[in-house]
Amino acid sequence: MMATALRIENPAGTSHHPGFLADTVAEDFPILHQRVHGRPLVYLDNAATTQKPRAVVEAMSRFYATDYANVHRGVYTLGARATGRFEGARARVQRFIHAPSPEEIIFVRGTTEGINLVASTFGEQHVQAGDDVLVTEMEHHSNIVPWQVLCQRKGARLRVVPIDDRGELDLEALAGLLGPRTRILAVAHVSNALGTLNPINEIVAMAHARGVPVLVDGAQAAPHLPLDVAALDADFYVFSSHKMYGPDGIGVLYGKRKLLEAMPPYQTGGDMIRSVSFERTTYDDLPHKFEAGTPAIAAAVGLHAAIDYLEAIGMAAIAREEEALLAHAVARLEAIPGVRLVGKAAHRAGAVSFVLEGVHPHDIATILDSRGVAIRAGHHCAQPVMDRFGVPATARVSVGMYNTRRDIDTLVEAVYETKEVMG
Ligand code: PMP
Repeated sequence: MMATALRIENPAGTSHHPGFLADTVAEDFPILHQRVHGRPLVYLDNAATTQKPRAVVEAMSRFYATDYANVHRGVYTLGARATGRFEGARARVQRFIHAPSPEEIIFVRGTTEGINLVASTFGEQHVQAGDDVLVTEMEHHSNIVPWQVLCQRKGARLRVVPIDDRGELDLEALAGLLGPRTRILAVAHVSNALGTLNPINEIVAMAHARGVPVLVDGAQAAPHLPLDVAALDADFYVFSSHKMYGPDGIGVLYGKRKLLEAMPPYQTGGDMIRSVSFERTTYDDLPHKFEAGTPAIAAAVGLHAAIDYLEAIGMAAIAREEEALLAHAVARLEAIPGVRLVGKAAHRAGAVSFVLEGVHPHDIATILDSRGVAIRAGHHCAQPVMDRFGVPATARVSVGMYNTRRDIDTLVEAVYETKEVMG
């Protein structure tokens, strides 16, 4: 049913021609078919957020038109249907990331809220004065600040795993930092600022060998790579729907059941209790204990449709095509005189960051916009990464399944034009 807008059975699974997938899905993304400043729009800011296929927009609009009501309350038919759809979305997420059970899937507002939830519950319980919390130098601010605030509150130390000049994690340093006082390691699967794809299996295994639990920030991995949280053995894994072709306002925190069960609630109120009196309140079971208040119901339906869409194409096919596209982007950008890539990791997903000699990244993005090309310039909510590379900002190109080699070539032409204009 969701496949109506997807006009193909298994497109990229049978082709190695880069751009084949993009050409096939292009029709499913109406927003991409418009002109900006008189030029065809080339959208290359997918790390910030992705555009939505018709299947997602239509699933949400149909849901509002036919099945909408609040969840987990009404005994009436609409309420039961809405609850079924909401819980169906949870089960879909569970299958998508290979979590052992749907009770381990907590719906949150997004990656940021998922990390804050873990920092203020698990962190509150386990981190004491003199303990260490480990993050890395490549984290997004949302995987730094909640831990920093926790450490300040507890008198704990925030310790940082450094990155090298290529933008790869220093695993030897990580091994040295994992100590008897380390209470958690919080690490990105993929860096949004550098595009580095971390050897996450190895990292989780290293931490577990020292008895340290791991929270993985999967915001930039979920749209690009097949995920298996059970095989990875991650203790917590968080991601945002809006970066994987689903609606904003919803995201996922996966946590191991025994950890989630032992954690106190994050927010309290309706929908998360078993019984309330003025003397005493008891909490509901997982996952409801962590879902106080009315959730993002239609957004869950949209996320379900986005996952159906992604899996109809196949995450392996998406990963393969995007890898080829990124290799093309790296090669073409590197060949431009005056361009320096920021982050040259051997394994990459999603994004390429660069600076152009003598031109501020904001000027690059502004001139590119006048050519119809949308990229991000700034610190990408990763100021420590900018400090590490001694730049105030970078220009970042980030791809999605609908991007083509032509898009990259248009971008590169526009960068050459930028050099002329600014030179
Ligand atoms: N972590 C990473 C690596 C990200 O790229 C982002 C979004 N840029 C976030 C966390 C935060 O995600 P959200 O804004 O959806 O909460």
